[in-house]
Amino acid sequence: MAEELDPFKISQQQLDSAAEVMELDKTAHEILREPMRTISATIPVKMADGSTEVFQGFRVQYNDARGPGKGGIRFHPKENLNTVKALSAWMTWKCSLANIPYGGAKGGVICNTKNMNQAELENLSRGYIRALGRFIGPKLDVPAPDVYTNPQIMAWMMDEYSKLVGHNEFGVITGKPIEVWGSEGRFDSTAMGGMYVLREAAKQRKLKIKDARIAIQGFGNAGKFAFDLSRKLGARVVAISDSSGGVYSEKGLDYDKLSKAKAESGEIQDYSEKGMEKISNSELLELDVDVLIPAAIENQITKDNADKINADIVLELANGPVTPAADGILFEKDILDLPDFLVNSGGVIVSYFEWVQNTQNYYWTQDEVYSKLDSIITKSFHDVFAMQEAYKAKKKKISPRTSAYVVAVDRVSKAMKTRGWY
Ligand code: GLU
Repeated sequence: MAEELDPFKISQQQLDSAAEVMELDKTAHEILREPMRTISATIPVKMADGSTEVFQGFRVQYNDARGPGKGGIRFHPKENLNTVKALSAWMTWKCSLANIPYGGAKGGVICNTKNMNQAELENLSRGYIRALGRFIGPKLDVPAPDVYTNPQIMAWMMDEYSKLVGHNEFGVITGKPIEVWGSEGRFDSTAMGGMYVLREAAKQRKLKIKDARIAIQGFGNAGKFAFDLSRKLGARVVAISDSSGGVYSEKGLDYDKLSKAKAESGEIQDYSEKGMEKISNSELLELDVDVLIPAAIENQITKDNADKINADIVLELANGPVTPAADGILFEKDILDLPDFLVNSGGVIVSYFEWVQNTQNYYWTQDEVYSKLDSIITKSFHDVFAMQEAYKAKKKKISPRTSAYVVAVDRVSKAMKTRGWY
């Protein structure tokens, strides 16, 4: 039977597995299997040639029992409602596991940013807010960047929203540039959070990060900074890729040279030097390394290749890179697969700090941000493994992902119960 690859169905399967082990209340389970609200909009955008193109955009608000919706907006050619629904569910679990006062939400637009100029991108970003602005707000739902969106896009969106409400509202969106009250440390916070998780995992697996060989799939906001931070920790990044393919070098890759090449030509395979080989994305995933960091998109490790994964630790920096079947296979192989909504929660944790700073109009240093991030994410890591141990004591073996689900779902269901929703 073919494996289910629809991200929303996958998110439901993951919830169902957790619900079973934690004996979740039936009504709570029913509420948590579907988004609370799904909004779809058409966005007419003036293009450079004078024509108007109509884009389709979404915002899904999955659950707000613990606070306003929170989650990024993706601009992706293959965007679709079910992916956004899944991502909004994962945001709900991510904010709950981090124990920050948000529910979960996500947005998306079907578009190809590679074929758009800056003016068109700005028109689309402002158009998204004109179409969906009434459904967001600092107390309602707070967007942020995600795949193919960036701080500049957040600035345009904040500006458009401020026009809509008639006053500056910096806290409506996070991941903004510093000039318009973004937070110090937000730009590399996803990767930084992942590195704190890796530090804890390495202690558990008795791995010295200084001696570690790392492979990274993806050269976007998450993958690029994971590369930079890994080498700063003294680890050797032996492989990295972007959507067109990857490069491998046993002696370790040079961050500065590769980022320069990527910025200039757009594809890292355009750079080559002695000792470096071209590899495909699937070859990268199967390399024999200490740490594999999927930092691109969903469904990269599936039942077809999970058996060929050779890493000791899989650090899921992307959202949804490992399917449920693959999750089981990695667990059986004793590979420590650290779930996405733990590993990549650094982004939303620092988004939370940005929103707090915007609300208080009082701003923190980068060191304060990183040290607060470290405390929160390290606690999440230990919450996950304490839950796994608690089940072990009851003679039940559960994967780190299921364990993380149990922690997160328990908090959301308790909030709903206490509020009297069931
Ligand atoms: N897009 C990021 C994520 O998936 C950040 C979300 C946010 O900061 O709200 O976690």
